[in-house]
Amino acid sequence: MGLYTTTNPATGETLATYEEISDAELQDLIARSDAAYRSWRTTSPDERRAVLSRAAEIHRERSEELAALLTLEMGKPAAQAQGEVALVASIYQYYADHVEEFLADEPLEISGPGTAVVRTEPIGPLVGVMPWNYPYYQVARFAAPNIALGNTVILKHARNCPQSALVVERVLTEAGLPDGVYLNAFISSAQVADAIADPRVQGVSLTGSEKAGAAVAEVAGRNLKKCVLELGGSDPVIVLDDADIDAAAAAAATGRLANGGQACTASKRFLVQAGVYDEFVRRLVDQMAGWTPDDPTSTDTKMGPLSSASAAGELDELVEDAVSQGAELLLGGGRTGEESAFYRPTLLGGVTSRMRAYSEELFGPAGVVYRFDSIEDAIELANDSPYGLSSSVFTSDDEKAQQIAESLETGMVWINSTSRSAPDLPFGGVKRSGFGRELARFGFNEFANKKLVRNA
Ligand code: NAP
Repeated sequence: MGLYTTTNPATGETLATYEEISDAELQDLIARSDAAYRSWRTTSPDERRAVLSRAAEIHRERSEELAALLTLEMGKPAAQAQGEVALVASIYQYYADHVEEFLADEPLEISGPGTAVVRTEPIGPLVGVMPWNYPYYQVARFAAPNIALGNTVILKHARNCPQSALVVERVLTEAGLPDGVYLNAFISSAQVADAIADPRVQGVSLTGSEKAGAAVAEVAGRNLKKCVLELGGSDPVIVLDDADIDAAAAAAATGRLANGGQACTASKRFLVQAGVYDEFVRRLVDQMAGWTPDDPTSTDTKMGPLSSASAAGELDELVEDAVSQGAELLLGGGRTGEESAFYRPTLLGGVTSRMRAYSEELFGPAGVVYRFDSIEDAIELANDSPYGLSSSVFTSDDEKAQQIAESLETGMVWINSTSRSAPDLPFGGVKRSGFGRELARFGFNEFANKKLVRNA
């Protein structure tokens, strides 16, 4: 059986291993989830609010302790790890605060006699498949709204963050969630498929790569199960001549390098208008150069290691591919040692469509900068990507910004800011970035039975 393993990417040391559960144990988890659903769905909004509020409170009370595990398992710098815990607390709190409102009946205006309402009801046990890059946040986006709605959750986390995965279950249990409403499952991809196919399970949500998304969606489709996919991104940041260049460069550096650049909505492509191109690149290079990879346990560190040495190696292949075909290395780059997981901030210019870095996702601290003349060119370049997750526009002309926003093929557009996440903002993409939305009311409704009740 396969293993779930904690390896500290900063040192390469393996610290803990966990075995996958057996098929019989998975059957038992599904049965517990199903039994828990039958009773959890009947609880009042008040009961759910109490659990979610307490979960938020525990995150706030134990921020440092919870954050330390993120640093240990995926190398997240301490200050950013605490930032993730704070964001997660705000997500549990948000659904605690809105559960009653989101569950309220929606009366319909109808032409005939009588009344009609749409009721929001849960649908049953769900499977979640989550990645390691924000171990608590990815889970909270899916679990918090569904717990609030009355669904139950079986969670398969990434195999390199098992301790963070177990802590999520422990915190929710401690917050008062009844047995079986949230269950951690150390399972294989084949067992994920079995769980989705099980008639008791009603849907699946995956955040991760396109490959995993396609595999899960195929099984979901074959079994007629609802599916939400949050996949990769190659977010463009468009900087116009009239933008505040200092602010744009500072935001771009953070947008590219926060979390070691390992975010689906990280700023990966910088599209800069010719008049400010040289100035912007100079400032971006200055900004990025300040993100020296260092010990992630120090609160002064802005960038730690990548999640593993092999992740650093994969990023290096994309950078090398571009450089070997004539791309210019404007800053960086490369690993700090041959087998190291630490990767220096890197910026590429002169990337062409023949190079992998043009169309593939750079999942680490390496960005690409492009020069454009007209706004039409910028939009064409921005949309010339298989992905459509988020995007940004920097300009002092709001009308122009709104027009560009309309033309961008992405699920989210940010004006004079790079992409961020908040509980009250819907999150999701189009094209190969997936489908469905998480967070806000939209995330609450993804796995809901919008039941019409018509009293004639
Ligand atoms: P990944 O390999 O797809 O892993 C994500 C999760 O999917 C893990 O739990 C993984 O389990 C599981 N998985 C992989 N193959 C599977 C299969 N065939 N069936 C069922 N489950 C499977 O993703 P990653 O490379 O670690 O994560 C980075 C990717 O996630 C990037 O592309 C990033 O952009 C994307 N992402 C998207 C969002 C978003 O909201 N759009 C947010 C964050 C990250 P194992 O660990 O056991 O392989």
